[in-house]
Amino acid sequence: MKRIYFDYNATTPIHPEVTQSVLPFFNGLFGNPSSSHWAGREVKGYYEKAREQVGAAIHAKPEEIVFTSCGSESDNHAIKGAAYSLKDKGKHIITTVIEHPAVMNVCKYLESKGFDVTYLPVDNKGCLEPGDVEKAIRKDTILVTIMYANNETGSLMPIGEIGRITRDRGILFHSDMVQALGKIDIDAEAMNVDLISLSGHKVYAPKGVGALYVRRGVEIDNLIHGGHQEASRRAGTENVIGAVAFGRACEMVKERMGKETGRIESLRKRLLDGIMERVDHVSLNGHPARRLPNTLNLSFEYAEGESLLIALDLKGIAVSSGSACSSGSTEPSPVLSAMGIPAQSCQSAVRLSLGWGNTEADIDYALSTIPPVVKRLREMSPFHK
Ligand SMILES: *Cc1c(COP(=O)(O)O)cnc(C)c1O
Repeated sequence: MKRIYFDYNATTPIHPEVTQSVLPFFNGLFGNPSSSHWAGREVKGYYEKAREQVGAAIHAKPEEIVFTSCGSESDNHAIKGAAYSLKDKGKHIITTVIEHPAVMNVCKYLESKGFDVTYLPVDNKGCLEPGDVEKAIRKDTILVTIMYANNETGSLMPIGEIGRITRDRGILFHSDMVQALGKIDIDAEAMNVDLISLSGHKVYAPKGVGALYVRRGVEIDNLIHGGHQEASRRAGTENVIGAVAFGRACEMVKERMGKETGRIESLRKRLLDGIMERVDHVSLNGHPARRLPNTLNLSFEYAEGESLLIALDLKGIAVSSGSACSSGSTEPSPVLSAMGIPAQSCQSAVRLSLGWGNTEADIDYALSTIPPVVKRLREMSPFHK
Protein backbone atom coordinates (compact mmCIF):
# COMPACT_ATOMS: atom_id res chain seq x y z
CA MET A 1 0.00 0.00 0.00
CA LYS A 2 1.07 3.55 -0.68
CA ARG A 3 2.17 5.52 2.37
CA ILE A 4 1.73 9.25 2.18
CA TYR A 5 2.66 11.47 5.06
CA PHE A 6 0.70 14.71 5.45
CA ASP A 7 1.37 15.27 9.15
CA TYR A 8 4.66 17.21 9.24
CA ASN A 9 3.25 19.59 11.88
CA ALA A 10 3.05 16.62 14.27
CA THR A 11 6.59 15.47 13.58
CA THR A 12 9.07 15.05 10.73
CA PRO A 13 11.31 12.17 9.67
CA ILE A 14 14.99 12.61 10.54
CA HIS A 15 16.81 13.80 7.43
CA PRO A 16 19.58 11.43 6.26
CA GLU A 17 22.17 14.25 6.45
CA VAL A 18 21.11 14.87 10.05
CA THR A 19 21.56 11.17 10.82
CA GLN A 20 24.99 11.29 9.14
CA SER A 21 26.05 14.21 11.33
CA VAL A 22 25.57 12.24 14.56
CA LEU A 23 27.05 8.85 13.59
CA PRO A 24 30.49 9.66 15.08
CA PHE A 25 28.83 10.02 18.50
CA PHE A 26 27.56 6.43 18.28
CA ASN A 27 31.03 5.30 17.23
CA GLY A 28 33.59 6.48 19.71
CA LEU A 29 32.99 10.21 20.25
CA PHE A 30 31.64 9.93 23.78
CA GLY A 31 33.13 12.62 26.01
CA ASN A 32 31.19 14.78 28.43
CA PRO A 33 31.37 18.30 27.00
CA SER A 34 31.78 19.68 30.51
CA SER A 35 35.02 17.67 31.05
CA SER A 36 38.27 19.60 30.60
CA HIS A 37 40.31 16.70 29.19
CA TRP A 38 40.73 15.65 25.57
CA ALA A 39 37.59 13.50 25.48
CA GLY A 40 35.43 16.36 26.70
CA ARG A 41 37.10 19.09 24.63
CA GLU A 42 36.64 17.11 21.43
CA VAL A 43 32.89 16.78 21.96
CA LYS A 44 32.51 20.31 23.31
CA GLY A 45 33.66 21.66 19.94
CA TYR A 46 30.83 19.92 18.11
CA TYR A 47 28.32 20.89 20.77
CA GLU A 48 29.17 24.57 20.57
CA LYS A 49 29.09 24.49 16.77
CA ALA A 50 25.51 23.18 17.06
CA ARG A 51 24.64 26.15 19.26
CA GLU A 52 25.96 28.49 16.55
CA GLN A 53 23.91 26.70 13.89
CA VAL A 54 20.67 26.94 15.86
CA GLY A 55 21.35 30.61 16.62
CA ALA A 56 22.12 31.38 12.97
CA ALA A 57 18.73 29.98 11.89
CA ILE A 58 16.93 32.71 13.86
CA HIS A 59 19.50 35.53 13.58
CA ALA A 60 20.64 35.04 17.17
CA LYS A 61 24.06 34.77 18.77
CA PRO A 62 25.20 31.35 20.01
CA GLU A 63 25.29 32.51 23.64
CA GLU A 64 21.58 33.35 23.37
CA ILE A 65 20.68 29.68 22.73
CA VAL A 66 19.90 27.27 25.60
CA PHE A 67 19.45 23.63 24.59
CA THR A 68 16.42 21.93 26.16
CA SER A 69 14.71 18.54 25.84
CA CYS A 70 11.80 19.69 23.65
CA GLY A 71 9.55 22.54 22.62
CA SER A 72 7.33 21.95 25.63
CA GLU A 73 10.27 22.34 28.01
CA SER A 74 11.27 25.57 26.25
CA ASP A 75 7.73 26.94 26.69
CA ASN A 76 7.69 25.91 30.37
CA HIS A 77 11.14 27.36 30.99
CA ALA A 78 10.31 30.67 29.32
CA ILE A 79 6.93 31.25 30.93
CA LYS A 80 7.49 29.87 34.43
CA GLY A 81 11.03 31.29 34.45
CA ALA A 82 9.77 34.77 33.56
CA ALA A 83 6.79 34.57 35.92
CA TYR A 84 8.83 33.47 38.94
CA SER A 85 11.66 35.93 38.37
CA LEU A 86 9.29 38.90 37.94
CA LYS A 87 6.55 38.00 40.44
CA ASP A 88 7.49 40.88 42.74
CA LYS A 89 6.97 43.35 39.88
CA GLY A 90 3.56 41.99 38.93
CA LYS A 91 1.53 38.89 38.31
CA HIS A 92 -0.25 39.62 35.05
CA ILE A 93 0.45 37.58 31.90
CA ILE A 94 -1.05 38.11 28.44
CA THR A 95 -1.51 35.23 25.99
CA THR A 96 -4.08 34.06 23.42
CA VAL A 97 -6.86 31.49 23.25
CA ILE A 98 -5.10 29.52 20.48
CA GLU A 99 -1.77 28.65 22.11
CA HIS A 100 -0.30 25.15 22.07
CA PRO A 101 -1.07 23.16 25.26
CA ALA A 102 2.58 23.64 26.31
CA VAL A 103 1.79 27.35 26.70
CA MET A 104 -1.90 27.19 27.53
CA ASN A 105 -1.56 24.68 30.36
CA VAL A 106 1.45 26.49 31.85
CA CYS A 107 -0.69 29.63 31.99
CA LYS A 108 -3.51 27.67 33.65
CA TYR A 109 -1.03 26.27 36.17
CA LEU A 110 0.30 29.75 36.94
CA GLU A 111 -3.29 30.96 37.48
CA SER A 112 -3.61 28.28 40.14
CA LYS A 113 -0.48 29.74 41.78
CA GLY A 114 -1.92 33.25 42.00
CA PHE A 115 -0.96 34.73 38.62
CA ASP A 116 -3.57 36.54 36.55
CA VAL A 117 -3.78 35.62 32.86
CA THR A 118 -5.57 37.45 30.03
CA TYR A 119 -6.45 35.17 27.09
CA LEU A 120 -6.80 37.38 24.00
CA PRO A 121 -9.41 36.35 21.43
CA VAL A 122 -8.73 35.75 17.73
CA ASP A 123 -10.89 36.53 14.71
CA ASN A 124 -12.56 33.94 12.48
CA LYS A 125 -9.31 33.54 10.52
CA GLY A 126 -7.44 32.62 13.70
CA CYS A 127 -5.54 35.92 13.69
CA LEU A 128 -4.86 38.41 16.43
CA GLU A 129 -5.23 42.19 16.45
CA PRO A 130 -1.96 43.72 17.76
CA GLY A 131 -4.01 46.58 19.21
CA ASP A 132 -5.67 44.06 21.54
CA VAL A 133 -2.28 43.33 23.10
CA GLU A 134 -1.72 47.03 23.74
CA LYS A 135 -5.17 47.41 25.33
CA ALA A 136 -4.65 44.40 27.60
CA ILE A 137 -1.40 45.71 29.09
CA ARG A 138 -1.67 46.76 32.73
CA LYS A 139 0.73 48.22 35.27
CA ASP A 140 1.37 44.73 36.64
CA THR A 141 1.87 43.00 33.27
CA ILE A 142 5.16 41.09 33.33
CA LEU A 143 4.98 38.84 30.28
CA VAL A 144 3.32 38.53 26.88
CA THR A 145 3.43 35.03 25.33
CA ILE A 146 2.03 34.67 21.81
CA MET A 147 2.88 32.04 19.20
CA TYR A 148 4.14 32.96 15.74
CA ALA A 149 2.44 30.23 13.66
CA ASN A 150 -0.51 28.21 14.88
CA ASN A 151 0.08 24.47 14.65
CA GLU A 152 -3.51 23.59 13.69
CA THR A 153 -4.44 26.28 11.17
CA GLY A 154 -1.04 27.67 10.14
CA SER A 155 -2.30 31.23 10.71
CA LEU A 156 0.45 33.73 11.54
CA MET A 157 0.38 36.22 14.40
CA PRO A 158 1.73 39.79 13.98
CA ILE A 159 4.89 39.15 16.01
CA GLY A 160 6.82 42.18 14.74
CA GLU A 161 4.05 44.59 15.74
CA ILE A 162 3.59 42.95 19.14
CA GLY A 163 7.36 43.09 19.65
CA ARG A 164 7.36 46.85 19.10
CA ILE A 165 4.57 47.28 21.67
CA THR A 166 6.21 45.13 24.36
CA ARG A 167 9.64 46.66 23.74
CA ASP A 168 8.21 50.20 24.14
CA ARG A 169 6.58 49.21 27.42
CA GLY A 170 9.57 47.24 28.71
CA ILE A 171 7.54 44.02 29.01
CA LEU A 172 9.10 40.60 28.32
CA PHE A 173 7.86 38.96 25.13
CA HIS A 174 7.97 35.18 24.61
CA SER A 175 6.92 33.50 21.39
CA ASP A 176 6.45 29.80 20.63
CA MET A 177 7.99 29.55 17.15
CA VAL A 178 8.12 25.76 17.01
CA GLN A 179 5.98 25.64 13.86
CA ALA A 180 7.56 28.67 12.22
CA LEU A 181 11.13 27.35 12.24
CA GLY A 182 12.11 26.01 8.85
CA LYS A 183 8.94 27.24 7.19
CA ILE A 184 9.14 31.03 7.40
CA ASP A 185 11.89 33.46 8.31
CA ILE A 186 12.56 34.16 11.97
CA ASP A 187 14.61 37.18 12.97
CA ALA A 188 14.88 37.29 16.76
CA GLU A 189 16.68 40.64 16.64
CA ALA A 190 14.33 42.48 14.25
CA MET A 191 11.16 41.05 15.82
CA ASN A 192 12.03 42.38 19.29
CA VAL A 193 11.24 39.04 20.89
CA ASP A 194 12.98 38.23 24.19
CA LEU A 195 12.33 34.49 24.45
CA ILE A 196 11.70 32.01 21.61
CA SER A 197 10.81 28.30 21.87
CA LEU A 198 12.05 25.86 19.21
CA SER A 199 11.86 22.10 18.79
CA GLY A 200 14.10 19.68 16.87
CA HIS A 201 11.62 17.04 15.74
CA LYS A 202 9.50 19.54 13.80
CA VAL A 203 12.51 20.35 11.58
CA TYR A 204 13.95 16.94 10.56
CA ALA A 205 15.98 16.39 13.75
CA PRO A 206 15.17 13.69 16.33
CA LYS A 207 12.63 13.93 19.14
CA GLY A 208 14.00 14.90 22.54
CA VAL A 209 15.84 18.11 21.74
CA GLY A 210 14.68 21.71 21.71
CA ALA A 211 16.06 25.16 22.29
CA LEU A 212 15.15 28.34 24.07
CA TYR A 213 16.42 31.65 22.74
CA VAL A 214 17.07 34.04 25.60
CA ARG A 215 17.95 37.54 24.40
CA ARG A 216 21.22 38.74 25.92
CA GLY A 217 20.59 40.67 29.12
CA VAL A 218 17.31 38.86 29.85
CA GLU A 219 17.34 36.98 33.16
CA ILE A 220 14.71 34.39 34.00
CA ASP A 221 14.55 31.68 36.66
CA ASN A 222 15.74 28.18 35.87
CA LEU A 223 13.31 25.35 35.33
CA ILE A 224 15.87 22.58 35.98
CA HIS A 225 18.36 23.21 38.78
CA GLY A 226 21.60 21.33 39.22
CA GLY A 227 25.00 21.60 37.54
CA HIS A 228 26.41 24.51 35.60
CA GLN A 229 25.64 23.35 32.07
CA GLU A 230 24.24 25.80 29.50
CA ALA A 231 25.90 28.76 31.24
CA SER A 232 24.06 27.74 34.44
CA ARG A 233 20.67 28.16 32.76
CA ARG A 234 19.70 24.50 32.34
CA ALA A 235 21.27 21.71 34.38
CA GLY A 236 21.89 18.19 33.14
CA THR A 237 24.64 16.56 31.11
CA GLU A 238 24.29 17.81 27.58
CA ASN A 239 22.25 15.86 25.00
CA VAL A 240 25.15 15.99 22.54
CA ILE A 241 23.55 13.81 19.88
CA GLY A 242 20.30 15.76 20.00
CA ALA A 243 22.02 19.13 19.86
CA VAL A 244 24.38 18.20 17.02
CA ALA A 245 21.44 16.81 15.04
CA PHE A 246 19.35 19.91 15.72
CA GLY A 247 22.28 22.12 14.70
CA ARG A 248 22.72 20.28 11.39
CA ALA A 249 18.95 20.43 10.79
CA CYS A 250 18.97 24.19 11.38
CA GLU A 251 21.82 24.56 8.90
CA MET A 252 19.81 22.56 6.35
CA VAL A 253 16.76 24.70 6.99
CA LYS A 254 18.78 27.81 6.17
CA GLU A 255 20.13 26.25 2.99
CA ARG A 256 16.87 24.77 1.75
CA MET A 257 14.06 26.95 3.07
CA GLY A 258 13.89 29.32 0.10
CA LYS A 259 13.61 26.49 -2.42
CA GLU A 260 11.41 24.18 -0.33
CA THR A 261 8.97 26.88 0.73
CA GLY A 262 8.02 27.67 -2.87
CA ARG A 263 7.79 24.01 -3.83
CA ILE A 264 5.69 23.04 -0.79
CA GLU A 265 3.47 26.07 -1.19
CA SER A 266 2.65 25.08 -4.77
CA LEU A 267 1.94 21.48 -3.68
CA ARG A 268 -0.40 22.81 -1.01
CA LYS A 269 -2.12 25.07 -3.51
CA ARG A 270 -2.67 22.17 -5.91
CA LEU A 271 -4.02 20.04 -3.09
CA LEU A 272 -6.41 22.78 -1.90
CA ASP A 273 -7.62 23.74 -5.39
CA GLY A 274 -8.01 20.08 -6.33
CA ILE A 275 -10.07 19.26 -3.24
CA MET A 276 -12.25 22.35 -3.68
CA GLU A 277 -12.88 21.36 -7.30
CA ARG A 278 -13.80 17.77 -6.53
CA VAL A 279 -15.62 18.01 -3.19
CA ASP A 280 -18.45 20.40 -2.26
CA HIS A 281 -19.14 21.83 1.21
CA VAL A 282 -15.47 22.15 2.13
CA SER A 283 -14.15 25.23 3.91
CA LEU A 284 -10.62 26.37 4.63
CA ASN A 285 -9.96 27.17 8.28
CA GLY A 286 -7.41 29.88 9.06
CA HIS A 287 -6.20 32.92 7.18
CA PRO A 288 -6.17 32.45 3.39
CA ALA A 289 -2.88 34.33 2.92
CA ARG A 290 -1.16 35.01 6.24
CA ARG A 291 -0.38 31.39 6.93
CA LEU A 292 2.39 28.81 6.90
CA PRO A 293 3.19 27.58 3.39
CA ASN A 294 2.69 23.91 4.32
CA THR A 295 -0.48 23.76 6.39
CA LEU A 296 -4.09 23.16 5.31
CA ASN A 297 -6.96 22.86 7.75
CA LEU A 298 -10.21 21.88 6.06
CA SER A 299 -13.71 21.24 7.31
CA PHE A 300 -15.50 18.56 5.27
CA GLU A 301 -19.08 19.30 6.30
CA TYR A 302 -21.27 16.24 7.04
CA ALA A 303 -18.20 14.04 7.55
CA GLU A 304 -16.52 13.51 10.90
CA GLY A 305 -12.83 14.47 11.11
CA GLU A 306 -11.83 11.50 13.23
CA SER A 307 -13.62 9.07 10.88
CA LEU A 308 -11.97 10.75 7.91
CA LEU A 309 -8.57 10.31 9.56
CA ILE A 310 -9.21 6.59 10.05
CA ALA A 311 -10.60 6.10 6.53
CA LEU A 312 -7.63 7.93 4.97
CA ASP A 313 -5.22 5.95 7.14
CA LEU A 314 -6.67 2.76 5.61
CA LYS A 315 -5.68 4.20 2.22
CA GLY A 316 -2.17 4.97 3.50
CA ILE A 317 -2.63 8.73 3.94
CA ALA A 318 -1.57 10.13 7.33
CA VAL A 319 -3.42 13.31 8.37
CA SER A 320 -4.50 14.68 11.71
CA SER A 321 -7.77 15.87 13.16
CA GLY A 322 -7.43 18.62 15.72
CA SER A 323 -4.00 18.77 17.37
CA ALA A 324 -2.11 15.53 17.94
CA CYS A 325 -1.91 16.31 21.64
CA SER A 326 -5.69 16.20 22.01
CA SER A 327 -6.42 13.33 19.66
CA GLY A 328 -8.34 10.55 21.31
CA SER A 329 -10.60 13.15 22.87
CA THR A 330 -13.83 13.85 21.06
CA GLU A 331 -13.98 17.48 22.18
CA PRO A 332 -13.91 19.91 19.26
CA SER A 333 -10.53 21.60 18.78
CA PRO A 334 -10.25 24.54 21.21
CA VAL A 335 -8.35 26.47 18.51
CA LEU A 336 -11.13 26.14 15.91
CA SER A 337 -13.82 26.77 18.53
CA ALA A 338 -12.03 29.95 19.60
CA MET A 339 -12.23 31.15 15.99
CA GLY A 340 -16.02 30.99 16.24
CA ILE A 341 -16.27 27.99 13.92
CA PRO A 342 -19.50 26.09 14.65
CA ALA A 343 -19.07 22.84 16.61
CA GLN A 344 -20.18 20.72 13.63
CA SER A 345 -17.52 22.23 11.38
CA CYS A 346 -14.86 21.79 14.08
CA GLN A 347 -15.77 18.12 14.32
CA SER A 348 -15.36 17.73 10.56
CA ALA A 349 -11.93 19.39 10.43
CA VAL A 350 -8.81 17.68 9.17
CA ARG A 351 -5.27 19.05 9.09
CA LEU A 352 -2.96 18.22 6.20
CA SER A 353 0.59 19.47 6.77
CA LEU A 354 3.20 19.01 4.06
CA GLY A 355 6.98 18.77 4.19
CA TRP A 356 10.22 18.08 2.37
CA GLY A 357 9.33 14.48 1.54
CA ASN A 358 6.12 15.25 -0.35
CA THR A 359 5.95 15.08 -4.15
CA GLU A 360 3.53 15.86 -6.97
CA ALA A 361 2.68 12.13 -7.02
CA ASP A 362 1.51 12.39 -3.38
CA ILE A 363 -0.90 15.15 -4.38
CA ASP A 364 -2.17 13.08 -7.36
CA TYR A 365 -2.84 10.14 -5.04
CA ALA A 366 -4.53 12.37 -2.42
CA LEU A 367 -6.75 13.99 -5.05
CA SER A 368 -7.89 10.62 -6.36
CA THR A 369 -8.37 9.16 -2.86
CA ILE A 370 -9.88 11.90 -0.70
CA PRO A 371 -13.06 12.71 -2.73
CA PRO A 372 -14.49 9.14 -2.81
CA VAL A 373 -13.61 8.63 0.88
CA VAL A 374 -15.46 11.84 1.84
CA LYS A 375 -18.39 10.84 -0.36
CA ARG A 376 -18.67 7.44 1.32
CA LEU A 377 -18.52 8.93 4.82
CA ARG A 378 -21.14 11.51 3.96
CA GLU A 379 -23.48 8.83 2.67
CA MET A 380 -23.36 7.30 6.13
CA SER A 381 -23.99 10.63 7.88
CA PRO A 382 -27.49 11.31 9.19
CA PHE A 383 -26.97 15.04 8.52
CA HIS A 384 -26.22 14.74 4.82
CA LYS A 385 -29.10 15.15 2.44
C1 LIG B 1 5.00 20.52 18.66
C2 LIG B 1 4.78 21.84 19.28
C3 LIG B 1 5.23 22.12 20.58
C4 LIG B 1 5.84 21.08 21.47
O1 LIG B 1 7.11 20.68 21.05
P1 LIG B 1 7.67 19.27 21.60
O2 LIG B 1 9.10 19.27 21.17
O3 LIG B 1 6.87 18.21 20.92
O4 LIG B 1 7.49 19.28 23.07
C5 LIG B 1 5.04 23.38 21.08
N1 LIG B 1 4.44 24.34 20.35
C6 LIG B 1 4.00 24.11 19.09
C7 LIG B 1 3.36 25.23 18.34
C8 LIG B 1 4.15 22.86 18.52
O5 LIG B 1 3.68 22.65 17.29
